[in-house]
Amino acid sequence: MCVFCKIINNEIGSYKIYEDEKILAFLDISQLTIGHTLVIPKKHYETILDLDSETSKEIFDLVRKLSLKIVKATGAKGVNIINNNNEIAGQAVNHFHIHIIPRYNTQEFSFNTNPNKLTEEEFIELANKINN
Ligand code: 5GP
Ligand code: ZN
Repeated sequence: MCVFCKIINNEIGSYKIYEDEKILAFLDISQLTIGHTLVIPKKHYETILDLDSETSKEIFDLVRKLSLKIVKATGAKGVNIINNNNEIAGQAVNHFHIHIIPRYNTQEFSFNTNPNKLTEEEFIELANKINN
């Protein structure tokens, strides 16, 4: 059983922020910033690529509501919503989860800023590839 399934089953303790029959939110053990929260479905889906439509709607709406609550409670000036899927993308726990990370200053962390430079032709080709 994965570590998040153990948290759902109360085999591992957690600091819960929200719980209903389908979703759980709890404080990340590694508080990247104060208030860093994880939102997970109680059913074990590995990644967003496995998730069903109804669960994803419910989770994202809860992410929105909890973000509001956390920002109000902490006085954060902003929030990052992060979701890593598969090891290549930095996923360490293979139970789908969304990170809510309140932001207090710009120095906390930043994304890799080394974007690909595409020509107009390459943009068109790429958009067509995804659309078809
Ligand atoms: P990932 O890198 O998979 O997107 O993030 C996994 C997150 O789960 C990490 O931020 C890590 O700190 C958190 N985490 C791992 N094990 C536990 C645990 O036992 N309890 C809690 N609360 N968080 C955990
Ligand atoms: Zn699990």
